Amino acid sequence: MTIHEGHPRRDSLLSRQKIVDAHKKGLLADSALIAHGRGEAFDYLLGERTIPSAKRAARESVNRLAAAHRPVISLNGNSTVLAGRDAVKLAALIGCRIEINIFYRTDSRMNLLSQTLNLMKNEVASDSPLDGISPEAWPQMVADVEILGMSPDAHIPGLEGPRAKCCSQGIHAADTVLVPLEDGDRCEALIQMGKQVLVVDLNPLSRTARTATVTIVDDISRAFREMIKIALGNLSAPDSQWDNTTILIDAIDTMGKASSTSFGQDG
Ligand code: ATP
Ligand code: MG
Repeated sequence: MTIHEGHPRRDSLLSRQKIVDAHKKGLLADSALIAHGRGEAFDYLLGERTIPSAKRAARESVNRLAAAHRPVISLNGNSTVLAGRDAVKLAALIGCRIEINIFYRTDSRMNLLSQTLNLMKNEVASDSPLDGISPEAWPQMVADVEILGMSPDAHIPGLEGPRAKCCSQGIHAADTVLVPLEDGDRCEALIQMGKQVLVVDLNPLSRTARTATVTIVDDISRAFREMIKIALGNLSAPDSQWDNTTILIDAIDTMGKASSTSFGQDG
């Protein structure tokens, strides 16, 4: 598919195509298409841009990942397809593990996702390094990113069936998990385990968004680009007064204003 450079919704259309192509290759469950469509609707209301409160939440997430003892980035199918390369870059900068963890687990999809992510890891290692990172150090930083998920040997308490599976050295032992596009039940179960849960979810009303410790209400590709930029700069200690509700209310307000401005009722 060709989408001309100046198309106002180019990024969104390219992301949609990536999801469609990955679904055809067997990387994604059918429900992944529906989940993506729901995200697109919320992104349309946000104006397909990163709003200031999402930037604040992205900064808080990076600060918390960097301060954690055992940080893990959990990736599902959609997040691997849309932001896998950037997740590897962020993991290399923070020094953390990645666990592939999918809701509808099948061996075939797990194998395909693992192959895809390892391929992405090789590409990122041979790409030119990020600004300010030494070209000598970068390939090793990327090679050090462990990718877990293929041999789950632990369970998330409170969940049933395959979606409870996780790795003892990954999500199970983590004190802080960045889980883009998580499901509400699992987000609650991870919080119950005493973990800090950092999520990316375009729906500020979802159970995931409302249960998480920090919610980045943004598209996953933009959120990872933002977190990489932040990780390359100066970090601070986590904010002990972090109020996640204000982030959600700001996103809901922004979406509401978008609909009134469309009809000329701004201000
Ligand atoms: P919950 O289980 O948290 O109540 P849900 O069941 O309504 O949420 P799911 O179908 O589990 O939602 O997951 C899809 C979620 O992922 C939606 O909230 C959707 O807005 C979000 N989403 C989809 N695509 C993206 C994307 N590209 N970037 C960020 N969020 C996305
Ligand atoms: Mg759900």
